[in-house]
Amino acid sequence: MALRKGALRCNMLVNSRHFYKLTSFVGVRSVSDKVSSKPVTSGDPETLGDHLIYTQEHFALKESLRKIIDQEINPHVDQWEAEGKFPAHKIFKILGNAGFLGVSKPVEYGGLGLDFSYSVAVSEELGNIRCGGIPMAIGVQSDMATPALARFGSAELKKEFLLPSIMGDKVACLGVSEVGAGSDVSSIKTKAVREGDEYVINGGKMWTTNGTQADWICLLANTSDGPPHRNKSLFCLPMNLPGVHIARKIDKLGMWSSDTAELFFDDVRVPCKNIIGQEGMGFTYQMLQFQEERLWAVANILTMMDNIIQETIQYTRQRKVFKQSVLHHQSVHFRLAELQTEVELLRSLLHRATALYIKGNDVTRLASMAKLKGGRLAREVGDSCLQFWGGMGFTSDVLVSRFYRDSRLMSIGAGADEVMLGIICKYMDTLPKN
Ligand SMILES: Cc1cc2nc3c(=O)[nH]c(=O)nc-3n(C[C@H](O)[C@H](O)[C@H](O)COP(=O)(O)OP(=O)(O)OC[C@H]3O[C@@H](n4cnc5c(N)ncnc54)[C@H](O)[C@@H]3O)c2cc1C
Repeated sequence: MALRKGALRCNMLVNSRHFYKLTSFVGVRSVSDKVSSKPVTSGDPETLGDHLIYTQEHFALKESLRKIIDQEINPHVDQWEAEGKFPAHKIFKILGNAGFLGVSKPVEYGGLGLDFSYSVAVSEELGNIRCGGIPMAIGVQSDMATPALARFGSAELKKEFLLPSIMGDKVACLGVSEVGAGSDVSSIKTKAVREGDEYVINGGKMWTTNGTQADWICLLANTSDGPPHRNKSLFCLPMNLPGVHIARKIDKLGMWSSDTAELFFDDVRVPCKNIIGQEGMGFTYQMLQFQEERLWAVANILTMMDNIIQETIQYTRQRKVFKQSVLHHQSVHFRLAELQTEVELLRSLLHRATALYIKGNDVTRLASMAKLKGGRLAREVGDSCLQFWGGMGFTSDVLVSRFYRDSRLMSIGAGADEVMLGIICKYMDTLPKN
């Protein structure tokens, strides 16, 4: 029933002014457009309409997004990577107009009101962007900084922050991690102390994606000295308030086109009404959205891995060593077959977890397994494929070297591999008892 409602909305969307029109463009030749970002199709039944979780509406949504990626994003990726930033306001407005920033968000706040399988489909398609930084920045806006607000925020807050974020008029960021607290979210130090009808915020956030461009931050802060899982609250904090300082833009190994900031908050006064949901529930709200965040990340990296394997096949097929193509050496095509098999296994896990999730099940165990495997597999795909490109793989001119750098984050961000293992062990009841 939920799917049918979603399909109806999606049909309306396809026919509405929002749906992106194909316009012609002449691209510049660069790493970003040497190889088309067309989906990798293998003639299998899934891409021909018999898919386990996707309907024709999912495919229509993907196709529409593909046009935006090919016309508005990929031709500029090399430049934005070199500049260390992409124009978030411009790109988010284009995506917001077309409905892609609120696929599973409520219709009354500009969303499409579809179930989470549509967000997974969108994330898969965003994997066709020829870098990791821009999809990550989009994911922060659509599926990391806004889910708690959409679920628990007041109508007034949603109008002020959610609606413009879904429409692409405001850029959002998520402030959870700090200099001394990443994996252990419970140990954050940023404090929000109530004074009359305001909270006064002091502290700092680290690794804030979109942080130098954002209009507001979904901020996690301690609102009492109580137990660490019950003393935190989430706030919608405008970034232009006095006392909000962007300390620096962080230089990184990869994800170059995504800006990452260190932020400080110095006696920042925010009205009490800017709290999301109930005081003291911030940690719980944050943990709740991790299932979606992790499934989203896996969906995104799956497409990138497909594309890297395909480009490696294309390159090694024409590159000759010892009188035959690199590809035709058995160690090469066997390795690529192994990697593609693992990618398919991961896809099955993702789609199974997504199918269970949209039926209302808790899929924390499966989502954690998928995230763990996604990080590890991306490292294998990046390393093995780069090897087969030889010296070319070591240059900045090819996608495989960018993927090698960018995908390393998958095992660290949004919960490191070890944190995923800890969650899986909890479900397996194998952790030592106190
Ligand atoms: C490019 C980038 C963008 C990011 N964007 C955001 C953002 O927008 N918002 C935000 O809030 N955060 C963001 N982060 C932060 C990210 O989520 C954290 O980096 C991540 O949670 C790990 O925290 P940490 O870096 O403090 O590592 P630490 O917590 O110091 O962990 C270091 C290492 O310790 C190991 N470890 C951790 N736990 C265990 C364990 N239980 N057992 C054994 N070993 C363990 C792991 O190997 C881990 O990598 C971003 C990070 C990066 C690099």
